[in-house]
Amino acid sequence: MAYLLKNGQVYLEHQLVTCDIRIQNGKIAALGTDLTPLADETVFDCTAKLVTPGLVDPHVHLRDPGQTDKETIATGSAAAARGGFTTIGAMPNVIPVPDDATKVADMVQRNTENGLVHILQFSSITKNREAGDLVDFQAVKQAGAFAVSNDGSGVQDAATMLKALAGAAEAGLTLAAHVEEDSLKFGGVINAGPKAEELGVPGIINAVETSQLARDIALSEATGAHYHMCHVSTAASVRMIRQAKAAGIPVTAEVTPHHLLLSDEMIPGNDANYKMNPPLRSEADRQALIEGLCDGTIDCIATDHAPHTALEKAKGLCGSPFGITGSETAFDTLYTTFVQGAQPRFTLTQLLNWMTAAPARCFNIDAGTLLPGAAADIAVFDLKTPTTIKADEFASKGHNSPFVGQTVYGQTIATFVSGKLVYRKDDAQK
Ligand SMILES: [Zn+2]
Repeated sequence: MAYLLKNGQVYLEHQLVTCDIRIQNGKIAALGTDLTPLADETVFDCTAKLVTPGLVDPHVHLRDPGQTDKETIATGSAAAARGGFTTIGAMPNVIPVPDDATKVADMVQRNTENGLVHILQFSSITKNREAGDLVDFQAVKQAGAFAVSNDGSGVQDAATMLKALAGAAEAGLTLAAHVEEDSLKFGGVINAGPKAEELGVPGIINAVETSQLARDIALSEATGAHYHMCHVSTAASVRMIRQAKAAGIPVTAEVTPHHLLLSDEMIPGNDANYKMNPPLRSEADRQALIEGLCDGTIDCIATDHAPHTALEKAKGLCGSPFGITGSETAFDTLYTTFVQGAQPRFTLTQLLNWMTAAPARCFNIDAGTLLPGAAADIAVFDLKTPTTIKADEFASKGHNSPFVGQTVYGQTIATFVSGKLVYRKDDAQK
């Protein structure tokens, strides 16, 4: 199919410009004003709509294979498309863990066959994400892995992490670290502090993150290897990353929408839709994350989309698994609060950079820009019409989101992946 997106507010090279985009043969054929529709083109009137490179999310959990009651490659990628994402990075905590060339190649094939968007596959760092042997980084890279992570667990042994950083760097793979010192977990379920005391549940201290981050920054410095920190949650982590960057240590970092939008004080009670790992931290931590993003300490935004079944999440803060969904609520919640809200903190172009080019840069992904000749990965958003987030409209199997019921601006109108229309809100086509 060929499309002409007319008259959109287009995010192009860090600016918003009014222009048309011609999509032919899966690629962006032309950008310009007053492009005349060709005979075979379907015209989308994008007047007053935001047109951006498809969003890039380097951190999602698709649960497939192994836990397909929570999500599948098909439903998880449909959720991404509905959120305006065209490239996602699939974490390796599936069963079996993709930890060798054969299993990575199998995942790459499954992702291609079943995915609605571009799905990039993480290999694990260690065999089966457990203490012990490292994966063969060269082999998994050759099999199609784009990065390595043990997400869901921290790498506990320093020597293992040292060798992993060196090996991943040598293979040209970004190592994305879930940073968590197991010996400091103490069975916590939400942030340690007044809210945990009020609810009578065990707390998770900040040092569970910062103690391991300090080690990892030292190991990044020792090896010279790029280290990417997943889901930064504390003010002290922001401070440490800021210092590391100032010292020239090759560290990058991501933050989730929920850590930017929520603090532990906002947990309404024994509600597992506010339980994730790392946990929602204090308001001071949240403010530090916002500042860290704005001053470049934190490089990008990633959702940590983590679907679970309603049955699992009905078990309260102590009995339920960690994690909330994020693909379908990331852009609109962030836009509504931080760009369009009463006290704006970000510009629209900042937010778009953190969700397109910036994550692509952290992981060396060829995505996140609109240029003639590039794959036509494009999202169209409506910034003017308010909508209420409804769980039964989610494409994800997971309904575990604290944002259900909120009224937001910035719903996705259409998502194109390599020129194919993979999501369309019904009334978008004119
Ligand atoms: Zn994680």
